[in-house]
Amino acid sequence: MWDFETDPEYQQLLDWADGFVREEVEPLDLVWPHLQFTPLTETRRRVIDPLKEQVRRKGLWATHLGPDLGGQGYGQLKLALLNEVLGRSQWAPVIFGCQAPDTGNAEIIAHYGTPEQKQRYLKPLLDGELFSSYSMTEPQGGADPTQFTTRAVRDGDDWVINGWKYFSSNANTASFLIVMVVTNPDVSPYQGMSMFLLPTDTPGVNIVRNVGLHGESDGHGSHALIHYDNVRVPDSALLGGEGQAFVIAQTRLGGGRIHHAMRTIGLSRKALDMMCERALSRQTQGSRLSDKQFVQGYIADSYAQLLQFRLMVLYTAWEIDKYNDYKKVRKDIAAVKVVMPSVLHDIAWRAMQVHGALGVTNEVPFLGMVTGAAVMGLADGPTEVHKATVAKQVLRDYTASEDVWPSEWLPRKRDAARARFAEFLEHEVGNQ
Ligand SMILES: Cc1cc2nc3c(=O)[nH]c(=O)nc-3n(C[C@H](O)[C@H](O)[C@H](O)COP(=O)(O)OP(=O)(O)OC[C@H]3O[C@@H](n4cnc5c(N)ncnc54)[C@H](O)[C@@H]3O)c2cc1C
Repeated sequence: MWDFETDPEYQQLLDWADGFVREEVEPLDLVWPHLQFTPLTETRRRVIDPLKEQVRRKGLWATHLGPDLGGQGYGQLKLALLNEVLGRSQWAPVIFGCQAPDTGNAEIIAHYGTPEQKQRYLKPLLDGELFSSYSMTEPQGGADPTQFTTRAVRDGDDWVINGWKYFSSNANTASFLIVMVVTNPDVSPYQGMSMFLLPTDTPGVNIVRNVGLHGESDGHGSHALIHYDNVRVPDSALLGGEGQAFVIAQTRLGGGRIHHAMRTIGLSRKALDMMCERALSRQTQGSRLSDKQFVQGYIADSYAQLLQFRLMVLYTAWEIDKYNDYKKVRKDIAAVKVVMPSVLHDIAWRAMQVHGALGVTNEVPFLGMVTGAAVMGLADGPTEVHKATVAKQVLRDYTASEDVWPSEWLPRKRDAARARFAEFLEHEVGNQ
């Protein structure tokens, strides 16, 4: 059965969320920009907590998680529909308890954590009371985890971690880190790496620099370069067992990637909305911008690109719910990841152009979106690597041709067809 409709009850909730985000949450992006991952001060708490409470009362808090973890168990498809709404605003995911990178981190602790780890880290994370950071990439190479050298060595009942990690997002405000390290250099990295959970204030965790993205002022970045310098953690800090890092990373990154894509629909739609409003509002050379064919082309291309992307994301979210196994949906998650940066880039770029000089100012959000699109082509793995994944997975369904000619080679197919219908063909010739 195929059905593209949202059930009316959930649609009502989405409509409520849309109004709530526009009226109550988007203003936070303007008064407290980039502070969404910072622990709440008393002042901010007075505003934020009641907003979260409204979301909880509507049953929209952390909807993707099961009831045992404080959510509704709505799954990924419904989360996708909600994330489209939340993607407009920086603060909205935090207010609804489904922000990156915490959703992915919560997912792996829920999946692989011990009861003690869940109590210590997962519960406060889900309550929105603390933030987390995923510390995997290293300065000498991010796209190829087999190059990682940060090492944990056993010492009695403890492990001692030494090495460098780069681009650990939000580490400066996170209460704990999930770090991926080599625990056994004598086997393949796929079996020799493990994950540890540790508080950010563990002695020896040195945040050397918080790297900022383009447009962020010096010292205000949120992507940490961390030196792990003789960091001692107990055996109980191991997440999911020794040698499990790659298996865990796939769970972590599968969810993270599709969640980014869901929010990107919302952000791209914001750019399209702004483009359309501007096209209808601006008059030049005797007609409105919306009457110019070039501008109509921008709008049509953007609408079509967004529609294709949205259907792709919703379909992939539906697959995740159906199979409940990221591995089975790997090809389509990678395909979504490949398409995502260009959709946001193209729509934001056209919207910027239609706004003229205003488009490139800091009074509208387009250049931030364009930078965001570039980030999406790198964070959680570069586009090239995901293209290779898609191609490898697609090729699994094919085999090589048995001889030098393609199996669709027409001369051979024609001969076979003629042989099959020879009796009728002779009859036809005879009648002519
Ligand atoms: C905003 C942002 C947030 C991030 N957050 C985190 C985080 O929280 N935690 C974390 O651990 N990491 C994080 N990262 C790091 C991210 O995962 C890495 O940047 C990414 O995996 C690429 O690694 P790299 O930067 O070392 O690039 P490299 O590995 O040096 O790759 C550079 C380029 O080489 C090319 N390339 C690489 N491999 C291949 C290949 N196999 N085939 C063809 N071409 C290839 C691509 O063009 C690629 O862009 C973040 C990155 C960004 C930009």
